[in-house]
Amino acid sequence: MNRLAQLDHAHVWHPFTQMRDWLKREPIVIESGKGAVLCDIHGKEYLDANASIWTNLHGHNHPKINAAIHRQLKKIAHSSALGLANEPASMLAAQLVKVFIPRSAFRAPHLKKVFFSDDGSTALEVALKLAYEYTRRTRRWSSTFRLSRNRLKPELQPKFLSLDGAYHGDTIGAVSLGHIDLFHKAYSGLLFKTDKVPSPYCYRCPFNRAKPERDDARNHRKCNWECVEKFEQKFSAQKKKGNPYAAFVFEPLMQGAAGMIAQPDGWLKKVTEIARSHGALLIADEVMTGFARTGSGFRVQGSPSEQRGTRNPEPGTHSPLFACQHENVQPDFLCLAKGLTGGYLPMAATLTTQAVFDAFLGEYHEFKTFFHGHSYTGNQLGAAASLASLEILQSEQSIRARQKLEETMRYELKSLWNLPCVGDIRQVGLIAGIELVRDWKTRKPFALRDRAGIRVCEAMAKRGVLTRHIGNVIVLMPPYCTTTAQMKQMIAVLHQSISKTLGR
Ligand code: PMP
Repeated sequence: MNRLAQLDHAHVWHPFTQMRDWLKREPIVIESGKGAVLCDIHGKEYLDANASIWTNLHGHNHPKINAAIHRQLKKIAHSSALGLANEPASMLAAQLVKVFIPRSAFRAPHLKKVFFSDDGSTALEVALKLAYEYTRRTRRWSSTFRLSRNRLKPELQPKFLSLDGAYHGDTIGAVSLGHIDLFHKAYSGLLFKTDKVPSPYCYRCPFNRAKPERDDARNHRKCNWECVEKFEQKFSAQKKKGNPYAAFVFEPLMQGAAGMIAQPDGWLKKVTEIARSHGALLIADEVMTGFARTGSGFRVQGSPSEQRGTRNPEPGTHSPLFACQHENVQPDFLCLAKGLTGGYLPMAATLTTQAVFDAFLGEYHEFKTFFHGHSYTGNQLGAAASLASLEILQSEQSIRARQKLEETMRYELKSLWNLPCVGDIRQVGLIAGIELVRDWKTRKPFALRDRAGIRVCEAMAKRGVLTRHIGNVIVLMPPYCTTTAQMKQMIAVLHQSISKTLGR
């Protein structure tokens, strides 16, 4: 075994990995990358079909991002944000606020302030703590609910609602917001309680009366939006308890780690309006969906040349960068990470409103300060990379390339419908989840111990395409620089790997 692989086996503990399985075979050791291609120490090339766990936007070794980091490195790599400002972080905060443009959100809160942190989980922790404390400080609690001036009865602590299957990160606050038993149950003793509502999983929705079709289940759903009714009921029931939900936490348009669950058009707008009408804050987790991942706003049917728009892009903007913008949802908190730096460096941001910011203002001795922060908050290298990435994202060339890639992906994915083990294909922009089932006619799932998703990904790796599965859902989320030929190859390899592994 290669020396680096030996060192890895001896000392590295990998995330979300059964290390007994890991230690059975020589790992792929990545040495370099260019565009959508990763290269290992033996010179074998792989297509990076999940953008290095959903982070990379413009490809590896992008000349503009490399140059921005080099330029910054000549000045300084890092100085603390505790007590000091710096050039790239100030500029980045201004840019982020500018690119999240509400369409017609009259009187809706605008995102004006940016709190930097390190990754998706910490971006959520920031939103969670700010929302909690903001609610405590601004809500009018009747005196019968108070233990003392600053303490509320435990049952009246600000309460959070999130979606079934939610994943918002691995720190304890973020895990508390999550509802994936496999990841979260073991730590239940460490967590605080949050409530969940069903997510709109049309393919397996108990309210959807449609038969399985060879098409995205969202296009054929037969229901009366019962999931939205449930949502309303949840809010009303909580209000009756005298403690309306403080905040609704959601991934807009597509729930990632839940299994790439794509929301039907209009769902997001409906539920966020209900949440607002009950006085809840909106916390949008765009860690995965941010930075143009959810596409141009056009659903393209048929061949690449047949276009039919369903979601309308923002007037005045060529291509929205955030999922919330597709349904004109204006959150109180916007959590960003992963693609923020173009997939180069760990950096995150939580955007919020002037109203939330103001609730933390006071005299020093009042201790209204937000006592929270990290050593690398506002890191200059990360901010320089992010500024370069944002500039590329907004260029005409990148916008056009993304639209073309999205069309190619949609067209090529159709070839998978002839496989009986493909149950659902859910694409939103440049994210696709392909759900594998025993039999598409019955939607019967593979048992987890069949390791269907793992086996297909292993077969893909052998054929030079790297991605990860979520249970039995295979994820495709290519970097935006992926060429038409590379996209076709990714999907052809997925097709071969499914049919070889699970049969035709
Ligand atoms: N939120 C979402 C929607 C995510 O997909 C993830 C990571 N997959 C996180 C939060 C956590 O991000 P990180 O791994 O950077 O902490």
